[in-house]
Amino acid sequence: MKGRVYLVGAGPGDPELITVKGRELLAHADVVLYDNLAAPELLPNGAELIYVGKKKSEHSMPQSDIIALLIEHARAGRAVVRLKGGDPYIFGRGGEEAESLTAAGVEFEVVPGVTAALGIAAYAGVPLTHRDHTSSVTFVTGHDPDKIDWSRIGHSETLVVYMGLTTIGVISEKLIAAGRDPSTPAVVVRRATTPSQQTFVTSLSELPRVVRDAQLRPPATIVIGQVAALRGQFDWFEKRPLFGQTVLVTRAEGQGDEGNRQLRHLGANVLDIPVIEIQPPEDGAPLTEALNSLPVYDWILFTSANAVTKFFDALFQSGRDARAIRAKIGAIGAKTAAALHARGIQPERVAEQAIAEGVVAAFAKESLVGARVLLPRAAVGRDVIPVEFRKRGARVDIVPVYRTGVPQESMDRLAAVPHVDWVTFTSSSTVKNFLALGGRRLLEAGAKAVSIGPATSETLKAHGIEVALEAAEHTMDGVIAAIRS
Ligand code: SAH
Repeated sequence: MKGRVYLVGAGPGDPELITVKGRELLAHADVVLYDNLAAPELLPNGAELIYVGKKKSEHSMPQSDIIALLIEHARAGRAVVRLKGGDPYIFGRGGEEAESLTAAGVEFEVVPGVTAALGIAAYAGVPLTHRDHTSSVTFVTGHDPDKIDWSRIGHSETLVVYMGLTTIGVISEKLIAAGRDPSTPAVVVRRATTPSQQTFVTSLSELPRVVRDAQLRPPATIVIGQVAALRGQFDWFEKRPLFGQTVLVTRAEGQGDEGNRQLRHLGANVLDIPVIEIQPPEDGAPLTEALNSLPVYDWILFTSANAVTKFFDALFQSGRDARAIRAKIGAIGAKTAAALHARGIQPERVAEQAIAEGVVAAFAKESLVGARVLLPRAAVGRDVIPVEFRKRGARVDIVPVYRTGVPQESMDRLAAVPHVDWVTFTSSSTVKNFLALGGRRLLEAGAKAVSIGPATSETLKAHGIEVALEAAEHTMDGVIAAIRS
């Protein structure tokens, strides 16, 4: 890959529409030059990222500078990805860049992408060809309508107009003058394949008015032809249950990817802003001591997946492994149990209700008199388990294995959020930290709070926040189900 330029199509917006090859190249790139049409989720962590803009009227880098950068980085022996919205060779200046690279003697490869027209076809429900309606498609740019012979291409049964928002008045007129029926169905799609996709169905003659009334701004693409009338039957994308809803997920760093994926597939616009940072405990001595006396314990109770991770990290670091554990194991719920499974451990007891009271209930029939119980958990936590277990004669050692902090970087990210429909809270700490980071503004502006369960709901209420929904099952799946319902 070194010393080469890859012109990579990013697809039309949905980050999952990039090709496998494109994603692979991004993962190994040293430098990525991107513009505003490429989904930010696609940008890799490990590379130098260079924004080269590309919005009319806004500051952007001249094409000659972009090409100079591509050449400079390739000559310096780097793997350079030039990431372009849609496909590099469809109105993407990929041709010009390829020419310049050839002239400079720089090696390059091209990876195709899903161009806007194809994204619209699939996600707005406009098949570009159809046996009954059309057998030809033309892609045309509306950038400079005087350069196009509309009397010639205007008769293409399906006409896809890129960059035509500001010129649609002229285009519509010229097409009708060239003999196209004014009542020909037409559709305008803005930000296709993204959670903010907007679709307007109209006719050729009405197009200019629709674009004007909706005050549409790029990126939008227009499809003219009989196939535009099929849209009503095929618009699965905008019909998904959470389409148009913005969900802000507050969570710990590095968690919640699965939930986010589910929400996205239900159509939601997911803003994933960590409000909890996991840090080592202030005092590591109690943990070291507990690890040294592991054989004395009858039970080890894990009340979060984080506790599992941090406990086992410390266990390994101390030179031991799972064989050092003689105790039986309890887990607060399926997520925590899964974290144990991943380490080859089958917990003897899993609470049905993933809350502290659930753990107590799971031990209702167990004699705890004289039992030695280790509770590795966050430095600050609820006291329900130790209090109830001690009442019943157990000796409980609470050992901090991690401490939670507030990730300050999230403050700016939260401040930049314009609008949210739902905010998910999966623990009392997410509530407190969200508020500490300035999140109240969003709730006051109408965002609804979704709580994972009773304890989190109590914390919300204690802070004067109305609980719009409480999950019946106290997991992220339960939170998602509540929003969905
Ligand atoms: N290379 C790109 C096109 C770049 S030109 C491609 O293959 O799609 C920019 C134009 O592309 C926009 O003005 C708009 O007409 C279209 N476009 C790009 N992304 C779009 C999107 N998500 N929804 C609608 N149109 C889009």
